[in-house]
Amino acid sequence: MKRIVFATGNEGKMREIRSILADLGVPVLSMKEAGIHADIVENGSSYEENAMIKARAVAEAASDGDSLVLADDSGLEVDALGGEPGIYSARYLGEDTPYEEKNREILRRLEGVPENRRTARFVCAIGAVFPDGREHAVRAAVEGRIGYEPEGRGGFGYDPIFYVPEFHKTAAEMSQEEKNRVSHRGKALELMKEVLRKDENIDRQ
Ligand code: IMP
Repeated sequence: MKRIVFATGNEGKMREIRSILADLGVPVLSMKEAGIHADIVENGSSYEENAMIKARAVAEAASDGDSLVLADDSGLEVDALGGEPGIYSARYLGEDTPYEEKNREILRRLEGVPENRRTARFVCAIGAVFPDGREHAVRAAVEGRIGYEPEGRGGFGYDPIFYVPEFHKTAAEMSQEEKNRVSHRGKALELMKEVLRKDENIDRQ
């Protein structure tokens, strides 16, 4: 394996991914950097399925026999809303609806819900397609609670309403380094890194 291609166009995610996978000693490229375009329909019924759909589509487009392709799928599960928005997190209230509005709507739906029932988690699955066609998926989560007001200006998406008790602040109030340490994506990437580290076919530079 000569390189890792991560199936995302999101630069913020790429920074996080590169810093976590750096010590594998293999170049990590975004789809764009690898010159790959793929129209992907995420119609799976779990985070793992969606991650594998993305990874397979990019692996097919790469088809160079030398790339390991990774893809992630993530979402926010709010227990008092029966796990919504879950795998539909990006599409909740419409793909283009600003997160300020999506967050306000979740807070509105939780009006009157006491603190002990405001539990929620960010979940992330990462799927891998190896150059020889083998597949593997991992999953990780970070537990928290939905707050009462949006707090913090960092992060993205649902971060301002996701309170992490361990840090006494929302994900949007954390530094990038703090978030990498606890985040669902950070943890899933660490799990995937262990899988790759054990892989004999990894061609270190
Ligand atoms: P995707 O996995 O890139 O499709 O992301 C799914 C959606 O989950 C994102 O658009 C966000 O709304 C939400 N999400 C995933 N991870 C995070 C996070 O770390 N903070 C805030 N929102 C997130």
